[in-house]
Amino acid sequence: MPEKPNESVRVRIAPSPTGDLHVGTARAALFNELFASHHGDNGSFIIRVEDTDFERSKPEFEENILEGLRWLGLNWQEGPDVGGLYGPYRQSERVAEHQKVVQELLDKKLAYFCEGNHGENKCDCRQKNLTSGAVRLIVESKEVTFEDLVRGTVKVHTDSFGGDFVVARAVDNPLYHLAVVYDDEAMQITHVIRGEDHIHNTIKHILIQEALGYTRPIYAHLPLLLDDNRKKLSKRNKETSLLAYRDMGYLPQTMMNYLALLGWNNGDDREYYTHDELAQAFTIERVQKAGAIFSIVKLASMNKHYLSELSDEELFAWAKAYYDKNGIEIQEPERLLQALKTELGRFASYDIGGTPLHEAMAWHASDWATDYSDVSLTFRQKPDTQTPEIKKSTQAIISELSSIISTIPEGEWTAKHLEEFLINWIDSNQKGRGEYLWPLRVALTGREHSPTPFAVAEAIGKSDVLRRLQDARDSLK
Ligand code: GLU
Repeated sequence: MPEKPNESVRVRIAPSPTGDLHVGTARAALFNELFASHHGDNGSFIIRVEDTDFERSKPEFEENILEGLRWLGLNWQEGPDVGGLYGPYRQSERVAEHQKVVQELLDKKLAYFCEGNHGENKCDCRQKNLTSGAVRLIVESKEVTFEDLVRGTVKVHTDSFGGDFVVARAVDNPLYHLAVVYDDEAMQITHVIRGEDHIHNTIKHILIQEALGYTRPIYAHLPLLLDDNRKKLSKRNKETSLLAYRDMGYLPQTMMNYLALLGWNNGDDREYYTHDELAQAFTIERVQKAGAIFSIVKLASMNKHYLSELSDEELFAWAKAYYDKNGIEIQEPERLLQALKTELGRFASYDIGGTPLHEAMAWHASDWATDYSDVSLTFRQKPDTQTPEIKKSTQAIISELSSIISTIPEGEWTAKHLEEFLINWIDSNQKGRGEYLWPLRVALTGREHSPTPFAVAEAIGKSDVLRRLQDARDSLK
């Protein structure tokens, strides 16, 4: 195991509780946490809630954000819920400190009052010596340069955003840029790892730090998350709430592993990592510049993998969360577990090819019954095109199936044996496989797409199979 780096690092995420935890914020949180974890005892990961937008900030969003980060399996050493030596961890609780800093900038003549009712570029208030109004930081016309751990040297000219910019709406109403800079200094943040959409803010933050004589943290701007069309991931084109993915059936280990690969890799094509393996391997140097595509297809295949690794208890708990959330009582837990194990590998979430989990699993129940109105028992026939003759021949096929299946002893009742036995019977009697296996599948599950009828038969047992065949035949009368 490589040695842990010695120098202390303190990193943070600073989510605004104005909405549910966004997958992009979760990815930034994960990268920060992995960076801190990589440094072992020398690394601290901090959560600071930026709740200064009083109108849009809501306690339930803060709760959703923390719940999402906990669910993902992240650990933080300091935060609004656990406290710490560098608190408070809600930005709103520092407003008095922020106001002092605004005053300090004014006192040192590094900022001035502005009437504020004119465009950024036309402001001539610097000469006016006003005594109230918005507060603008004095900015020289110059190029600001910083070294970004992901993007290399970044240069932005202050003219590009109009020079002097507003840091407070009034002395007692400081704005985001000033609050962030002050809080990062107060919390002794060493590295600011956040989305690429903050690059222009970073320039302003550096100018505020310079004015106040603060230490400049090291910056790393993470690539944007994109949808399949390479557009910025947004609510309009894709689900962006992390916990919505939990509610769809994605496992936390899937989300963590998948998010880790959105903009980072270890230089090879390895895909599966535990948290500790990620923490050991993770370095900012291996974060890419190019936008990272958030692909549901990839996420789903990863979830299939992690679902297949669950113990029986975990798999059952995963399904139970869905049944509970939908207010559906599980009557036969053993049989449901059996059915889940039978379907494993076919589902990647609580939705199986458009069918919700409880419907797809309905066949597990001992009193399962269906009316066959949507799916036909006859191979390659729709329910509404079945003539009396067709029904009769299907009935005959089902009767044949019943009699041969009833000869299989209980002791040999396994999917493997059933398959060998039935296929052998069908082939040696020169019958069509589809003609026999199709009605068997539909009789057992009521579905066109399901696990093999042999696997279902094993899961539900011989007597249920014979009863379902009987019901299927009766339905054709
Ligand atoms: N409150 C900001 C956001 O949610 C934080 C940005 C930062 O990390 O400095 O985007």
